[in-house]
Amino acid sequence: MTGKNCIRSILTILLLQWMGHGVMAQGKYDLYYSVGLDTAAHYLNVELTYTQKGGTNTDELVLNMPVWTPGYYEILNFPKHLCDFAAKDAKGNRLTWRKDGMNRWRVQTSDCQKATITYRIYANKRDVASSRVDGSAAFIAPAGVFMHVDGEINHPVSVTFQMPSSWQHISTGLLPNTKNGHTFTAKDFDTLYDSPFLLGNHYVKEFEHEGHPYTFAIETPDGIEEIGFEQDFKRIVSTTTQLMGDVPYNNYCLIHMGEGGGGLEHLNSQACYTDGTYRFPSRRSHVKFLAFTTHEYFHLYNVKCIRPAELWPIDYNREAITPMLWVSEGLTCYYEFRLLRNAGIATPEEALELLSTYFSLYAPYDGQHHASLRQSSYDIWLNFMNNDDNERDVRVNYYFKGPVIGLLMDIDIRRKTHQQHSLDDVMRRLYQKYYQQLQRGFTEEEFWTEVADIAGQPLTDIRRLVDTTDDIDYDSYLREAGLYVNTADWSIRRVEKPNKQQRQFLKAMNML
Ligand SMILES: [Zn+2]
Repeated sequence: MTGKNCIRSILTILLLQWMGHGVMAQGKYDLYYSVGLDTAAHYLNVELTYTQKGGTNTDELVLNMPVWTPGYYEILNFPKHLCDFAAKDAKGNRLTWRKDGMNRWRVQTSDCQKATITYRIYANKRDVASSRVDGSAAFIAPAGVFMHVDGEINHPVSVTFQMPSSWQHISTGLLPNTKNGHTFTAKDFDTLYDSPFLLGNHYVKEFEHEGHPYTFAIETPDGIEEIGFEQDFKRIVSTTTQLMGDVPYNNYCLIHMGEGGGGLEHLNSQACYTDGTYRFPSRRSHVKFLAFTTHEYFHLYNVKCIRPAELWPIDYNREAITPMLWVSEGLTCYYEFRLLRNAGIATPEEALELLSTYFSLYAPYDGQHHASLRQSSYDIWLNFMNNDDNERDVRVNYYFKGPVIGLLMDIDIRRKTHQQHSLDDVMRRLYQKYYQQLQRGFTEEEFWTEVADIAGQPLTDIRRLVDTTDDIDYDSYLREAGLYVNTADWSIRRVEKPNKQQRQFLKAMNML
């Protein structure tokens, strides 16, 4: 960290302290969490202090814990990991409470202005939506740890971690508001639930890039310097922010944990399990890993800001069903291909190989004839991480078919506008109009209306391919762009000898 960065960090901390106190003072109560770590038995010991302000009193404190976390479209029933719930008043007298539903607690608070709630969370699962604590580190997935007052997601909240004295770091997208870096204030619970924490003695690297501070928090950094990961990440950031024309965060934290599967996008961070090393066995696996990081980074725009209407505001008590996850996830997969190529990281062949991998995961299977992309988005809450052995026979995965539809859309917009516009314009339009100006999500009809507006006419055929299980005539899109499908291995390739028009198209898509 440079001297200039230090001064900015101090100013930011002071600003946040002031904001935190300022916001806290507005509510009728304060909420402070303290989290202790039982590293041997894998428990988080949670203590919530609720303090009424201004002499007000309430008969009952109703607390809710989410049943899912944004980006992970499955009811996870977080309260199943909770035990030993208890409540006391300021004098230490026990307060009575009862459960009211799977994720709601009602605490009787008559005549008391302060209540202390305690409970334990079993945290011993290695996935990005779950918490984990052991002798060397803790990963806190906040939606499964912290309760909010029923119906009051917009209330500010502070969290302090009690760490083992030998642990040095807490890494998260939130900035600390105390000198020792153990306390964080979120302006509301949406922010807290979208800010995972990594605690321990992991590798931490802080740097500034194009005016914004970044933190790498890496559990298993083996090889990270040698492969130039920081340089590649900066190129991904620059390419993405140039494409979108805006940076939607102040600071960004990249949390990469040890060996395991999955990654999850967050407000100004990403949390991913990795291969446990940055020494990749092949160039192919290296590019795939960079695509994974690019995917979570692009989600900052596509799903965190560019949102289907059903995904915002968030109801943590039930599913957020939308027919447009193929836009949020499928087009994000398409932008792995585009961004890595535009950043000069992937060659045209490597970029096409990324797309081909997705293509080969649905094109040979019958599932595409039984469920549309739209339907697979809508039903994901029934099928997330589904391992049924008939999965590929009856369903289609929007992670696989979505990016291919993204390619066809991009080509169709480009040819309809004679290369004046592309899918990039659609993403920018959705970002500027719905996120920045209207500050809301977009409906399905609004999505297609914006696409038609950019393309100069409706993309009727593409919409049919999204909404139905009709066979796709790939050649009718790909040939003009100098690409074709090789059904021998279900790959998408460049034609061997592109004609003049195909060369122009390939050049426009940066694929020459
Ligand atoms: Zn994703």
